[in-house]
Amino acid sequence: DPSLPAEPERLASIDLCAIRHNIRQIVARTSPAAVMSVVKANAYGHGAVPVAKAALEAGATWIGAAHVAEGLALRAAGIDAPLLCWLHTEATDFAAGITAGIDLGVSGWELEGIASAARAVRIPARVHLKIDTGLGRNGSTRAQWPALLERAAQLEADGVLRVVGIFSHFAVADEPERPETDEQLQAFREAVAQAREAGLEPQVRHLANSPALLSRPDTHFDLVRCGLATYGLSPFEGVTSADLKLRPAMRLSTRLANVKRVPAGHGVSYGLRYSTDRETVFGLVPLGYADGVPRVSEGGPVLINGSVYPSVGRVAMDQFVVDLGPDADEDALLGAETVLFGGEGAPAVEEWARAAGTLNYEIVTRISERVPRRWL
Ligand code: PLP
Repeated sequence: DPSLPAEPERLASIDLCAIRHNIRQIVARTSPAAVMSVVKANAYGHGAVPVAKAALEAGATWIGAAHVAEGLALRAAGIDAPLLCWLHTEATDFAAGITAGIDLGVSGWELEGIASAARAVRIPARVHLKIDTGLGRNGSTRAQWPALLERAAQLEADGVLRVVGIFSHFAVADEPERPETDEQLQAFREAVAQAREAGLEPQVRHLANSPALLSRPDTHFDLVRCGLATYGLSPFEGVTSADLKLRPAMRLSTRLANVKRVPAGHGVSYGLRYSTDRETVFGLVPLGYADGVPRVSEGGPVLINGSVYPSVGRVAMDQFVVDLGPDADEDALLGAETVLFGGEGAPAVEEWARAAGTLNYEIVTRISERVPRRWL
């Protein structure tokens, strides 16, 4: 963004070299399967268009998103790679999606709406059948497979649509010891076999998300859907990005907005949940839950001048406080660069996730529009 000042007060910088590195790693691990980079939710907060471009440069050949509206925005920005969107409602503009050459995931009910849209725009829709193999969200249940396959085969025979793919989504692939992943894999194989018996030939079978593509080569099929790993984050508890040879792409930083010495027994922030047990120096960090830093992430760490300090008290809408310790030099620290996560020596996203009782996925995805992005 050329209108950004050289040093914005708050900044999420996104390292596109890291995105390209991560995609090259994933391509190397999953070839000959194709790689879909999943850029829904503004690329998990990283910026859908620049991430999609970087991922395609590095060897991804598909782009994935949840909503057709997200797909249309990518098309409008010139992304012309194969693109799949999989979460629709009756208000979804299927005609616009088909016209833009967007592939559509289909659980069941969408078929008729997609068929009428395809007839209206006189372009056969490209669909991927979504199979619920156990996650219980979208996708057709085993009992629904026969009706879905039969209707899809009819519409394909009528030239209204083409069944390009068949796919499903894992529930617990991040916990490799759990047996349900094998059960889902088996169910997926059965659904593919039934599709073939129904006369369909979906060329693109896909099942693996980040945890599965990293840990289960037997789930790769023709395509892997790579969300979290695109961003260099680990889907596994206790396994770091570095362990997986991935590089976290986002760095969130700001500057201290106030620094002051406080006596022992001084409370901090709403609810006064924290009180100093000694004289100390407080630093004020101008990022809050309106910026996506969770209100409950008390204790989340920041890097300032080479040292890591804990946040104390509740995160407020625009700001939170860090305890810089009694020896801190107030004058020297006012305006000091403060890094929440990302980059050399800084805390990992996972430390903020742990403080907030959530996943790394949620921390980066929730960094809000109020925080300017810069792509490096
Ligand atoms: N495929 C589907 C259908 C999804 O909904 C998602 C994201 O939740 C992904 C793939 C990417 O998952 P991950 O970020 O774990 O790679």
